Amino acid sequence: MDKITMTTPLVEMDGDEMTRILWGMIKDELILPFVDLKTEYYDLGLEKRNETDDQITIEAANATKKYGVAVKCATITPNAARVEEYKLKEMWKSPNGTIRAILDGTVFRAPIIVKGIEPCVKNWKRPITIARHAYGDVYKASEMKIPGKGKVELVYTPDEGEEQRIIVHEFDGPGIVTGQHNLNSSIISFARSCFNFALDVKQDLWFATKDTISKQYDHTFKDIFEEIFESEYKDRFEKAGITYFYTLIDDAVARVMKSEGGFIWACKNYDGDVMSDMLSSAFGSLAMMTSVLVSPEGYYEYEAAHGTVQRHYYKHLNGEETSTNSVATIFAWSGALRKRGEIDELPKLIDFANKLEEACIKTIEGGEMTGDLVLITSNPNPTKLTSREFIRAIRLKLEGLLF
Ligand code: NAP
Ligand code: MG
Repeated sequence: MDKITMTTPLVEMDGDEMTRILWGMIKDELILPFVDLKTEYYDLGLEKRNETDDQITIEAANATKKYGVAVKCATITPNAARVEEYKLKEMWKSPNGTIRAILDGTVFRAPIIVKGIEPCVKNWKRPITIARHAYGDVYKASEMKIPGKGKVELVYTPDEGEEQRIIVHEFDGPGIVTGQHNLNSSIISFARSCFNFALDVKQDLWFATKDTISKQYDHTFKDIFEEIFESEYKDRFEKAGITYFYTLIDDAVARVMKSEGGFIWACKNYDGDVMSDMLSSAFGSLAMMTSVLVSPEGYYEYEAAHGTVQRHYYKHLNGEETSTNSVATIFAWSGALRKRGEIDELPKLIDFANKLEEACIKTIEGGEMTGDLVLITSNPNPTKLTSREFIRAIRLKLEGLLF
């Protein structure tokens, strides 16, 4: 068979530890034999980031702006232990944070659904995708402990014009206070990313805040979404046969539990943090969760939702076989290749990406899986495979689908 051709390179961001090992296996077994792969390669492994004073991360993010689509391996976010372990010059920032700051995106996370790994919530039939706003609120708050009696005020000192102040609370005794903010520009980007993504995957979009209680703060989120929807997206949603639905956050939670799934749930920063952990564990496993960063300009960066699986990597270094689940990383590749195919109008590449995903699902549904899934499957006779055996099993299924 002739290899499937590509016309524009993907931005390939390599990473760390066990996922870096899987990365190589996935390329060798599942991509390179079938696709005439074009990538612009950036090594975001911690050693290279340290060597380049983290410039490599910035270059990779800028390349994503140039080409439009990237695929990223999990990377170490350094802490004190890592500074020691890798003899780092500095405690470099989280690569995902750096990339997000440059692309100004929203992260969408969705579970990969397979028969035999049933969600805890019986009525969930289709994936629920969480879109988490990644700026501000409690994550960029100023906080203060109030030692005793006294008045706390919010003061806005404009560059020009009159000062504004309101009383937060007249304290009679000790207490606590916090000041949070967000930016209209960031909320607008968030809204556009969500509406674009909904059109992309043709799913309804839900959004919820606590606007009845937070009449200025949360209400602004509601108003901005409403304005952008009415002025820019309403017609396109109608044509695509999808809806935008706003409700209160507590009502949304109740409805999500009773739903069949199959929609996107846009969440404020904190809600998204909490709800995405709930959804991923209720759907099965972090290793079966895809993640894509979508910028308001329409740049895409695909990755797995899990980390570098450090514990497995140390077993691997000891010469032991691991049974690490590569599905989310494979889906990062298939997602990026499919998007490249859509943008460049390459139906064969889109078809390949779909079949690669189908091969993963068929392998697991046929009972061959990694240890993390063996623990939670309802299949009575699963076979536990090593990392490499699992990827080989997927390759056999893929060849069956392609030839
Ligand atoms: P992790 O890599 O997600 O792994 C935590 C545990 O979850 C593993 O020890 C393993 O459990 C299980 N697990 C996760 N992915 C799995 C997979 N694909 N197959 C099988 N089991 C899997 O999180 P971590 O150990 O807290 O973090 C390790 C490093 O990853 C850190 O340096 C962190 O900075 C980085 N990180 C990166 C990203 C990213 O790049 N997007 C995200 C999160 C964390 P068992 O050990 O019980 O088998
Ligand atoms: Mg969290």
